[in-house]
Amino acid sequence: MEDLSISKMNVMTGLQSNFRSNQAQTTGIRPEQSYNVVTGLQPNFRSNQEKTAGTKSEQSDNLIVRYLENIAIQNKSNLVTYSEPQYTKAFGNDQSVKIFDPIHGKYIDSGIFENMKVYDSNGNTVQSVDYQKDGNKIIQKFFVKCVNGTTVNKEVVNDGNKKTMTLVFKNSSGKSIIEENRTYEKIDNDTAISTHNGKTYKISGLSGDVLTVEHNGQKTTINLADMIQENMESLEGGQEKISDKKVNNEQKEMLKNYVKNLSGDIILKFNEEIKKLTWLDGQDCFFNYDGSKIKMNDYFGINVFLHELGHGINCDDSKSSDKHLVRWSDDKYYSDTRNFEIKNFKTRNKNKNAEYIMQKFMNCEYFVEDGMPSDYARKFGADEEFAELYSFINDIDISDGAPGWNRPLSVVQYLPYSTQIAYNKMKSLY
Ligand SMILES: [Zn+2]
Repeated sequence: MEDLSISKMNVMTGLQSNFRSNQAQTTGIRPEQSYNVVTGLQPNFRSNQEKTAGTKSEQSDNLIVRYLENIAIQNKSNLVTYSEPQYTKAFGNDQSVKIFDPIHGKYIDSGIFENMKVYDSNGNTVQSVDYQKDGNKIIQKFFVKCVNGTTVNKEVVNDGNKKTMTLVFKNSSGKSIIEENRTYEKIDNDTAISTHNGKTYKISGLSGDVLTVEHNGQKTTINLADMIQENMESLEGGQEKISDKKVNNEQKEMLKNYVKNLSGDIILKFNEEIKKLTWLDGQDCFFNYDGSKIKMNDYFGINVFLHELGHGINCDDSKSSDKHLVRWSDDKYYSDTRNFEIKNFKTRNKNKNAEYIMQKFMNCEYFVEDGMPSDYARKFGADEEFAELYSFINDIDISDGAPGWNRPLSVVQYLPYSTQIAYNKMKSLY
């Protein structure tokens, strides 16, 4: 018998390798089933008019939202259109570029790395991802011009055993409102030092299974071998099942590599939030609220692992033992702000691709059509935004996934106020 309770709900990232093909993915979500939520980036959108019809404007008691609504009224006639993402080969035909994939422990073909640009109707860039090469250094630069005028610059440098990341948000007057700095240096086969906004973490045990993270004189030990679930999980008709297949040794090492490549502060967060890791026999991955479990496979980079961890961090386990029902992202200020931003997006934006990308992070109408209660769908979108931002803000590894970058960059572009609120929450965690 299936456990039909809502607590079996799972969330998938869905950064499928066939992401750009827009093919309909798993559907068939029914209220009587557990909510195995897949990306479901269905291509058959209804028109904007149909979607926004019937949304009546209700006055918010949230002062910030009221302020934002006033701005929106002033901009009412200001419909915006953006280009589809434009992709170009990041390194052209340069065969000398080598990019290390820490999950498989080998170099990968730089031909799969693509620059991306999205333009507004005046030809100004509103989203970009650019890769550069300087000797052995690979540099990845992100830029976003948000709908409220905020600009975002993120730069990641991976140079052999050394990685750095800087992330800066500036408001429309050019004042810096978010600054994040990370460094990570592998000292030898077993040891690394990471820093986050000036705080230092020493990680040891990287050559084996038992990691020790040292910070402020405190040592935390994590045995990764104990965290691996022996049996794989599979997906059957959108339902997750523990399968009879065993996770083999090579797969176990890859699962451990997701953790071993994290910065020290994030390893500590992982240790607090995640109890088990397992291999998903299929091209997707999940965070499972029920068992604080991440299900991965090697189709994905560390950025996707961080997304799943973001779901775990978003669970507010101090408030409820029934974790999936209480999440930080239920915060009223965050959700009121999101609701405003979503309304603004739907009213002003006429870009099909953006609408397609943003479905997952908004109110997930396609899940509602498939029978998911709309209040749950809204929670789902809020949780997805938090997870996606957690990954974008903290990722220090250059991985491929050019099609996937359109997701976090669109979240930041269209939902800048709630992004900032989510960021403030994340900042308070470290
Ligand atoms: Zn997710």
